Order: sequence, then structure tokens, then C-alpha cells
Amino acid sequence: MSRPETSHLFYQSRQRRPMLDQARGVYMWDVDGKRYLDGSSGAMVCNIGHSNPRVLGAMRKQMDKATFGYRLHFETEPAEFLAAKTASLAPEGLDKVFFVSGGSEAVESAIKLARQNAIAIGEAGRYKVISRDPSYHGCTLGALALTGYAPLADPFEPMMRVMPKIPAPRAYLDGLDPDDEATGRHYADMLEQKILAEDPETVLAFIVEPIGGASTGALVPPRGYMRRIREICSRYGILLIHDEVMSGGGRTGRFFAAEHWDVDPDILVISKGFAAGYAPLGAMVAHKDIVANVLDAGGFLHGFTYAGNPLACAAGLAVVEEIEREGLIRNAADTGALLKSELNKLMDRYSIIGDVRGEGLLLAFELVEDRATQQPLAKELNAFNELVDIAYENGLIIYSRRTRGGHSGDHFLIAPPMISTADHVGEIIEGLD
Ligand code: PLP
Repeated sequence: MSRPETSHLFYQSRQRRPMLDQARGVYMWDVDGKRYLDGSSGAMVCNIGHSNPRVLGAMRKQMDKATFGYRLHFETEPAEFLAAKTASLAPEGLDKVFFVSGGSEAVESAIKLARQNAIAIGEAGRYKVISRDPSYHGCTLGALALTGYAPLADPFEPMMRVMPKIPAPRAYLDGLDPDDEATGRHYADMLEQKILAEDPETVLAFIVEPIGGASTGALVPPRGYMRRIREICSRYGILLIHDEVMSGGGRTGRFFAAEHWDVDPDILVISKGFAAGYAPLGAMVAHKDIVANVLDAGGFLHGFTYAGNPLACAAGLAVVEEIEREGLIRNAADTGALLKSELNKLMDRYSIIGDVRGEGLLLAFELVEDRATQQPLAKELNAFNELVDIAYENGLIIYSRRTRGGHSGDHFLIAPPMISTADHVGEIIEGLD
């Protein structure tokens, strides 16, 4: 079948990309037979690589049984087993799992649950949700309101102005030492100032990506930041929500990124790597006391038709089993360390690379006009777009984000599947060089 002259698809960007034919392991092929290494795991989704035979087998088995089971009429085994598995991986006490079909829905559900909890415990005056700038929490209206990125959220102001933002910690830009606990406290204290300015009793929740995804280019918070944030939220009775849509699922070297600091949220959301691109799936995982409050007060108000559909849950369960069976979290940590050191070598050779950062296989590098001053790229500089084109030509897919003067600079996420090896690292570096 030949490609239509005019595309009737409607996306954000007008750019046309090669037509995908097939994908296996870490590679993808277009319809002309050109091979690409998937250096972004399809936007940090395909964590265990493409076309994994065991996951496909589990899905086929479920397809032969039933592809849909409506929650009001039937429980399904894949949803029940995946919920139990997820609860066993989540922090202590977070053992109630609510399935959805993607990240934005999971974020919306978390906010809704937080609000219903506040009403249930007699604190209906709490409605404000604080987030960070920059951040990304999704594209539904509520998730956009939380997103700290003016060009995305501004068109909806003032409809959703109830969501104040605090600056994300950019220690290296401010010349602070990210390994010093004082740096973490310094940035976390901005949250406390915001809470006090807003009136603590009106603040419902604080939402944060423990390790930033596309919004910040794999920004890892300074030492002490996440723990201090936890303390501050507890002090004021504010729920802490971790958005692990991009960082969850093992690619940072832990199943949940917040495990790096041993910090437990009240609610966490996951998606992308959860069913690893085999099916659309997300989940909100909440502390049992919050869920008990809401259920005792009359029930959780929800109604997503596809929530917990058995095909997606069968895929999710097979993905988690594959991660455990193949030791992929360890591999993400080891291969990620190698890739990061190779990216650092590139930085030694190219002064346009201002920073290399991230954890495990959630890595990024940032392009700057001048490393000494960390000046962002000038708008007219074509280096950014050229690098994307060079990578394509070299058969490498990378995730690029131009924030055009935004707080987080122009960066490329390098996040190949967790099955990647040292040879793939070599291919990625060649593709960028
Ligand atoms: N939260 C984070 C941190 C994300 O990176 C994304 C998507 O990139 C979302 C939420 C929204 O997820 P989805 O696109 O599945 O709705």
C-alpha cells in the first residue's frame, strides 16, 4: 500500500517522519527497509524492547479468551494479578491500584482521589495543587494545568490558574553543588514558601516527577531534596504525588525512581513502561488509608470504560515478569552507567554540549550556546534540528525537546530499551558523533 499524498492525521507537529514497518528488540525498520536503533524507546515506553515473544504470547493467550471485560460486570484475572504485583512493588501502604489507559488519565485520577479524600476527611477547603516549573504531567485539561511549561499551559489561563508552580531544582545552573544536602534543602524550601504564601489549609497536593522526563531532560534532584519535600508535605497535611509515568518501570535502575532516595509518596502514577508499548495502560497507586476514606464516604467517582481491560493487564503482567526474569533493572543501571560515561566523553569533545545527566537508562544531554555561561542555544542556531536529522540519517532515533527559551534548555533524551547492551551503546554514540 503506498503512502497517501496528503496525510489526514492531525498531530501537534507538521513534520512527516518515515513510515514504520516493523520493530524487534531495540531496532525499528521503515517501509523502505532502513533500520533505526530506538534510542528513545518510543518516548520511554518500550522499556523491554519491541516484539518480546513472551509478552506477545501472553497477549495472544488472553486474546483467545476475552479481549474485554467491563469492570461493572466482571472481575478479570489479569487485572487482579497485575494489581497484586504492582502493590508488591510499590512502597509500603500503597496497595490500592486503579487502572487507567495512560499517563494523563492516571494524573487526573490522582488529583480527583486527593480532592475526594480532602472532602471525606472534612478538609474541603483544600483544592490547590502545586507543581514544578518546568514539568510535564500530560495533555488533558487538568494535567495541563499542572504542567510547568508556559507555552503549553498559558492558552488555558485563567481557566486553571489555581495551580501555583515552584521552580525545579537546577543546581548546576545556579552554581550550587548537587551532592550537598544544603542544595536539596534550598530548593525544597521554595515549596514551603509557596505553601505559606498560598495558605497551607487550601493546599491539597504537591505533584513531582522524582526524576524529570522530557520536561527537564532527565533532571535528577539534588541530594536531600526529595526527603525534605516529603517532610514539608507531611507537616502541612498535603498529599505528595509522584508522577513516575516516565521514570517508573525500571529504566532508572530502580522500579520506581523515588526508591533512589527511599522516599514514599501518598499516591503514585505510572504508565508508559508499565505495559511497555504492548498496550495502552496506566495506573494510580494510592495509600490504603486514602482509598478507605474515599470509599467510606461513598465511593470513588470514576468511569473510564477501558480501565483495567484484560488485554492491557495481561501485557502489563508479562512485562513485569520479563523485567524480573531477565534482570533488566540491573542491566538498565549497568548499561546506563556505560552510556553516561560515553556521553561525557562526547561532552569533552563538543563544547556545544552543556550538560549530561540522568540515572540508569533515562539520560539526557543539553545543547548550549556557551558552556561557561550555560547560555541557551540562540534561536537561529540550527545545531539542534541538524542533530535530529543527523541521527535519523545515521539510523538512530532520539527524543528531542526544544523549549525555546524555557527554563530547561534544549535537550535530547537518550533512553534506549532496558535490554540494550554495550554494543548498542557504541552504535548510539556513533549515531550522534
Ligand atoms: N506525566 C509524565 C511525567 C509524562 O512524561 C507524560 C507523557 O509524556 C504524562 C504524564 C502523560 O502521559 P500520556 O501521554 O500517556 O497521557
